[in-house]
Amino acid sequence: MAQEGIFGAMLQEFDGAARLLQLDPGLWKVLTSPKRQIIVSCPVAMDNGQIEVFTGYRVQYNITLGPAKGGIRYHPDVTLDEVKALAAWMTWKCAVAGIPFGGGKGGIICDPTKMSKRELEALTRRYVAEIIDAIGPDKDVPAPDVNTNEQVMAWIMDTYSMHVGHTETAVVTGKPVVMGGSLGRREATGRGVMITTREACKHLGINIKGATVAVQGFGNVGSVSADLLNQNGAKIVAVTDWKGGVYNEKGLDVTALIAWVNEHKTVAGFPGAEPLAADKIFEMDVDILIPAALENQITTENSSRIKAKIVAEGANGPTTPEAHKQLHNRGVFVIPDILANAGGVTTSYFEWVQDRHGYFWEEWDVNERLERKMNHMFHNVLETALKYKTDMRTAAYVVAINRVAQVTKLRGMYA
Ligand code: NAD
Repeated sequence: MAQEGIFGAMLQEFDGAARLLQLDPGLWKVLTSPKRQIIVSCPVAMDNGQIEVFTGYRVQYNITLGPAKGGIRYHPDVTLDEVKALAAWMTWKCAVAGIPFGGGKGGIICDPTKMSKRELEALTRRYVAEIIDAIGPDKDVPAPDVNTNEQVMAWIMDTYSMHVGHTETAVVTGKPVVMGGSLGRREATGRGVMITTREACKHLGINIKGATVAVQGFGNVGSVSADLLNQNGAKIVAVTDWKGGVYNEKGLDVTALIAWVNEHKTVAGFPGAEPLAADKIFEMDVDILIPAALENQITTENSSRIKAKIVAEGANGPTTPEAHKQLHNRGVFVIPDILANAGGVTTSYFEWVQDRHGYFWEEWDVNERLERKMNHMFHNVLETALKYKTDMRTAAYVVAINRVAQVTKLRGMYA
């Protein structure tokens, strides 16, 4: 019987590609089993003097290609099922990107909007202390995800360094540049979304200059994707976030919108635009739709109303497998998450390499390397899709599974 939940959705995607590849049944079992799942309780003395206990997870889904790699999410709805799926997606994403990492993910059930900075620091440090034996530059390298940022990475790096007795910058990526972060990392995921969208436009014969774009979520990924697509001549007409949305058919002033969000923490109320109800974002008459918020946003409820020709998945798992099937059947070109948003982890890899060398690259160098990698990834997946006569998501899985399966076979089963 098919598994439910987000991990079940990941398995459905995996199975489609594994069938095409006629994957060996033994390898099938290995690649659909998470290697390690850690659950920890993190007591924190809150500002009001009370003690709260938060549940944290870290899943190392597969480390065949190298250390586990993946972000840490702070959100009230975090579940083990979600973290497991996100860790699996990281495995396939690193394999598609051709970087020497496995896949991991972490999460803490908490509402960071209701916590002080001191409480967040205490929670972060306790979580790191609880999982300290499992992480490290050769074992598992966390990074930011929803509601975690450079500051959280700095606390993780410091806590780990205090425990091992020396400064270890390569234990996390997405750190502030001043302490071993990489130039270009903050913008890397959005830059990758822009590059893959641009290449998809070329493939489909859509002129990016003047192409219209709608974006769900205006955080790190959504805002940078919008900004860079805008710089490439596309017109960003609609944006929504957790609080509301804005619309302007002539195109939103993205720079002004970013400044507005920095001040007001939401796009809602941005002057010079009409208000837009959050659920209308998927119905916009645009060329390009970028879901860049959370998973399970495009479902069979709303997929038939999508008018866009390209859906570029900035977020992880924004489209359910059934909705994806419907979009594909209707001829919508979906750039799957494990390809579209792989720019983040690729530049995280660059950051890890720079930390380990103690030698830092200039921003143009980082961006050029990312451009080359994303271009190669996109066209490799596109060629695979054409070869197997399948959609881009299945093709990306084919590339990823092939790579991990090949290395698993070469390494053999240790017993
Ligand atoms: P973020 O916290 O910076 O931004 C999230 C945005 O989504 C915010 O604008 C928020 O208001 C909005 N949002 C939240 N709930 C929403 C809802 N119900 N409806 C509409 N908007 C909503 O997070 P981020 O780093 O930009 O990550 C966004 C997505 O991209 C996540 O799925 C994440 O896993 C994925 N991702 C992030 C990176 C990265 O480098 N940051 C890399 C790969 C994938």
